[in-house]
Amino acid sequence: MTTTIEAVERLLSDLVRIDSVTPWLIPGAVGEGEISRFIADWCADLPVEVTIEEVEPGRPNTLVLLRGTGGGPTLCLNAHADTVGYENWGPQALTPRRDGDRLYGRGAADDKAGVTASLLALRSIVGSGIRLRGDLLLALVADEEGASIGTSHLIDRHAMDATIIVEPDELGKMITEHQGFGWVDIVAHGKPAHGSAPEMGVDAIVGLAEIVVGLDRIDRELYRANPDPLNGMTVFHTGTISGGTDYATYPGHAKLGIEIGTQPGETLADRVREIEGVIAEVEARRPGFTAEVHVALERDPFTGSKDSRIARVLSAASGRVDGRPLQATGMNAWADSGLTQGAGIPTVMFGPLGGNFHAPDEWASLSEIVTATAILEDAVVAYLGVGEG
Ligand SMILES: [Zn+2]
Repeated sequence: MTTTIEAVERLLSDLVRIDSVTPWLIPGAVGEGEISRFIADWCADLPVEVTIEEVEPGRPNTLVLLRGTGGGPTLCLNAHADTVGYENWGPQALTPRRDGDRLYGRGAADDKAGVTASLLALRSIVGSGIRLRGDLLLALVADEEGASIGTSHLIDRHAMDATIIVEPDELGKMITEHQGFGWVDIVAHGKPAHGSAPEMGVDAIVGLAEIVVGLDRIDRELYRANPDPLNGMTVFHTGTISGGTDYATYPGHAKLGIEIGTQPGETLADRVREIEGVIAEVEARRPGFTAEVHVALERDPFTGSKDSRIARVLSAASGRVDGRPLQATGMNAWADSGLTQGAGIPTVMFGPLGGNFHAPDEWASLSEIVTATAILEDAVVAYLGVGEG
């Protein structure tokens, strides 16, 4: 069945109007409770089983299962129901506005476009009268923009043979790998002393500053000089810094927070080793100064394959529907694909065009959502097969 622009605009507008900011990013934000109830209602006339799984209070995953006739695999379409905040845009962020092919609103692209395409593909499959052999599981998950508690909870509890992460990108492409990342603290120790007693004090801030300069050198000479052909330059930037006690005292401690990426084939331990090399140089120059690395959060890179069955099926579906097989590419950001593939589930990431993610004037292309919906429908049928009877 063909999904219309009007059907996309209606559902996407309804989803944009529902605040679903993740409280992991914005303390006190409402979470995914209301959008979950909306999705359950929207599916009420479909022959599906809807399960709302509370991951944390007010933080549900919404699971919509279309059972097959049996004997086939299970395919999961995973799109996230949460968004980042809209304080950088204002309340009009929740008022959808159409201008030509674009629909503007917080989450219009990231990832309510993905939720829309997944739900409309499901409705279209049901409407076509096809009975699938395998099971189709839509997972409209919580907290992708936070700590990914939704997808973590999902893959701990539900088996699946493949996952399509439906996230905005651009038609004609699929993402089969992306960088991992670490949030890392570097804690520096000096020796506090009266400001007039330099022979007693060890300046933790000056030592940490030399570490920052050393990390910047690695960024220029190693990361920027050797971009990954698919995922670009390894991510590195400083995020936070603090230290010392007062003007009059040698600072005995200082702390730096950084974000740093890993390419497929690398682990955060590789990055930590590089950082420790810089620390050792500074320690050798500055008697009494020490520093150590603390990893606050670690996420592995996504290492899917364009040769997995799901990637081949999706690409062929794009060829049939959109006249072009998908070009496999990577990216320098992170998504829940890192978790699903990491759990051994063959994963590919795919989605319609959008722009201004996480920023004012976020938009999604309505026509690309229509086409993405048709590609997903075709791929689901091809992957799960048609049942008997
Ligand atoms: Zn997203």
